[in-house]
Amino acid sequence: MDTTRFRQLPAVHKLLESDVVTLWCKSHARTDVVRALQEALRQARAALREGDEPESWDSSAILRVAHEVLTGQSLLHLRAVVNATGIVLHTNLGRAPLALEAVAAVQASAFGYSNLELDLETGRRGERYDHVERAICALTGAEAALVVNNNAAAVFLILRELANGLPVAISRGELIEIGGSFRVSEIMRESGAQLVEVGTTNKTHERDYEQALQAGVSLILRVHASNFKMLGFTSKPPLEALVARAHAHDVPVYEDLGSGSLFNLKKAGIGDEPTVRESVEAGVDIVSFSGDKLLGATQAGIICGKKRYVDRLKKNQLLRALRVDKLTLAALEATLWLYRDEEIARTRIPTLQMMTRTVEDLQSDAESLASALRASLAAQGAHADVRVTRVESQVGGGALPSEDLPSYGVALRVAGVPEQMLLERLRAQSPPIIARIMKEEVIFDVRTIFAWQRDDLVRGITNTCAG
Ligand SMILES: *Cc1c(COP(=O)(O)O)cnc(C)c1O
Repeated sequence: MDTTRFRQLPAVHKLLESDVVTLWCKSHARTDVVRALQEALRQARAALREGDEPESWDSSAILRVAHEVLTGQSLLHLRAVVNATGIVLHTNLGRAPLALEAVAAVQASAFGYSNLELDLETGRRGERYDHVERAICALTGAEAALVVNNNAAAVFLILRELANGLPVAISRGELIEIGGSFRVSEIMRESGAQLVEVGTTNKTHERDYEQALQAGVSLILRVHASNFKMLGFTSKPPLEALVARAHAHDVPVYEDLGSGSLFNLKKAGIGDEPTVRESVEAGVDIVSFSGDKLLGATQAGIICGKKRYVDRLKKNQLLRALRVDKLTLAALEATLWLYRDEEIARTRIPTLQMMTRTVEDLQSDAESLASALRASLAAQGAHADVRVTRVESQVGGGALPSEDLPSYGVALRVAGVPEQMLLERLRAQSPPIIARIMKEEVIFDVRTIFAWQRDDLVRGITNTCAG
């Protein structure tokens, strides 16, 4: 083994003198910093032994690894990744990224104590749901609100409380399955509700519901089709008409909205997703939706509607098992706060911002990513074909399935390296990069890439092509 290759590696005491490491020592124990530098040097020696070029392990490369070790990023199993798939709500990648305001709120309530269940005015015990109830009501027009772990839990709790052992009417066209593990028919059975199918797969009329009401159902369940779309010879009664029929029989209507948008995407030219407010205004008694789909907050199931029903849910013993923690409430409250102004919501909430980006903005972003990438590849002497290309992004998360968003991306091809192998190498970068393949090219859709990830992305792709 040629040990002269190792001699070029910087010594720990030299690295400790550098400005950046001096900074680290202000926020970390010096012993931890030294340990991180030693670990980085160990990795460098191992890589050199494997045949890496000494030039690829200069001081900055070693400091980068040391910083990852120091901050624990490379040691954790759950890691931050770069989402270059263009799928805004990617369930496998954690659905909605949070707004900075939400992250700050989570950090503040996580780092110390909070008034989670304390009424600051009276000094007495408070309700954890109070922190968000007023905001949800203000944004949706509902009388009362409640939050549970996710929308699946909301569906279960609502059916259990309002329909345990009782018949519930649902259109055959709405007996859907979402993400493999959530089937409306099965969750109904688990909750104790008796499924009463009405209408047909493609058409359900008001008279079909009327028959069920006359036969004595105790709840009408309406489910947003979410991840699929029926085209052609289809129909279902308008919400107002359905509500009027149900109320004439003194039967409540519950709508599982799935994504539950608080933002009018239709007005922004995207899809035909109903807003939660439209359902509440149509007179629906109880509505539920996810916190981490179109809403753009954290995993949660938001329930809102008439007070007499929400009050019953609040008293159900099951709520204790489905309750959300302080971090969820912190993220949710801060995100809801941003919805008080439509333009603030659109620009500050990452999912809305990504969905409403203009094609011109995406194109110029793709062009600048391509040139940064070409420069980086040239500097490393790596060869790859890089070109800017039009692509279609998706909303994902079972929302707006037929709505492709025109976008731009960078397409990459490396002679002699199959695309699957490139994807694999990209996932091995730090941070891991998640991309997709289209027509024998690896595509990086810029829609879902944050500006602050740009340098990591360019470095990661360059490593992939050079390696
Ligand atoms: C996504 C979805 C659910 C499940 O929501 P989670 O928050 O993921 O639990 C339930 N119903 C519908 C219609 C959905 O689209």
